[in-house]
Amino acid sequence: MEERIRFPYEYDPVKRKLAKIYTKQKIIQASIISVIIPLAFFSIFVLTGMSEVTRSFSTYLSQSWDVPIYLSILFGLLLLIITPFSFYFGYVFEKKYGLSKQTVVAWFTDHLKIEGLLFLVLILGGVGLHFIWDSFPSYWWIIASVCFFGILLFIGTIFPILLIPFLWKTEDFKDEARKRKLADIAKKSGIGAVDKIIVVKESEKSKKVNAGLMGFGKTRSMFIFDNLLNKFPPKEIDVIFAHEMGHHVKNDVIKGMALSSLLTFSTFFVIAIVIMPIASSVGIQSLSDITIFPLFAALFIAIQIGIRPIKLAYSRKRERLADQFALDTIRDPEAQISAFKRLADIDLADDSPHSSVEAWLFSHPSINRRIRHCESWKAKRD
Ligand SMILES: [Zn+2]
Repeated sequence: MEERIRFPYEYDPVKRKLAKIYTKQKIIQASIISVIIPLAFFSIFVLTGMSEVTRSFSTYLSQSWDVPIYLSILFGLLLLIITPFSFYFGYVFEKKYGLSKQTVVAWFTDHLKIEGLLFLVLILGGVGLHFIWDSFPSYWWIIASVCFFGILLFIGTIFPILLIPFLWKTEDFKDEARKRKLADIAKKSGIGAVDKIIVVKESEKSKKVNAGLMGFGKTRSMFIFDNLLNKFPPKEIDVIFAHEMGHHVKNDVIKGMALSSLLTFSTFFVIAIVIMPIASSVGIQSLSDITIFPLFAALFIAIQIGIRPIKLAYSRKRERLADQFALDTIRDPEAQISAFKRLADIDLADDSPHSSVEAWLFSHPSINRRIRHCESWKAKRD
């Protein structure tokens, strides 16, 4: 198989054109699903009185379970409204671009799993938050932020163990030679290697490629899509592994969590200041009133969008450092450039998006920037 993989890879001009359109449509998708629909839904829910009716109905059903019932109706409706859009963008659209290999049934099974889990997290989070509002109306934002960090830590630890096998078939990475190489790189950097490497069988679902680092301490693991192992030559796989090792060496998982917690702390602080004045204008008198929840959710989403460029700029910086680590350890800029081009063509990633698009949506530097980084490293070396 491997001898048939072209190296170095050069861009396919047709794919470059397609990538521009695909990326643009992905941006529209992200705005519709995660911003426009939720914001519109929460506003309509409050302003049309649906929120009041739902609360009365929930209290009528059960005095002691009214909060989880209210939240189930709220989030149940929202997820139901979003589903057709998710189907269009996640299935129809991905098929159109030849990226998805799933059947409708397989897609819906995955979708149900993800939405079910999300629904559970939202209900539990909402109930917890309501409890904190009720018990500590003045300092809720401090307590909620601490809880948020605890939850992030918990998710960061269990994610690799539970979530990946919940959504994908997996197997252990058995390439002992490459594992030894990684252990060597880690040793040179003065830290322990990542012992657990999981191969994720994405090839059953799509053509997409991905790799990443998750968890910390004993749960620290690296995952890699089987598509990547099958479609990339060994030299490029080394570079990608070294990039992930870079995240490991520089402790990027915990740093990312720390930033998220800090930003959430600021978000909760701002909400604590503005929520009651806004709530009282629509007739909500206290934080204990569960009908304040959609208002909170709308404010949370709006502020998160505002601070998104900070989060993403930080992430891009960490990615650049991981690229730098791969260059310094593997010292093969040609392979790194080739891997980036191959990656961009497979995933139909826009290699040079507008800088404002990059600022608001890209967790990694654009492929063009990453290639330029390799070229300047190479120029310095030669
Ligand atoms: Zn990375």
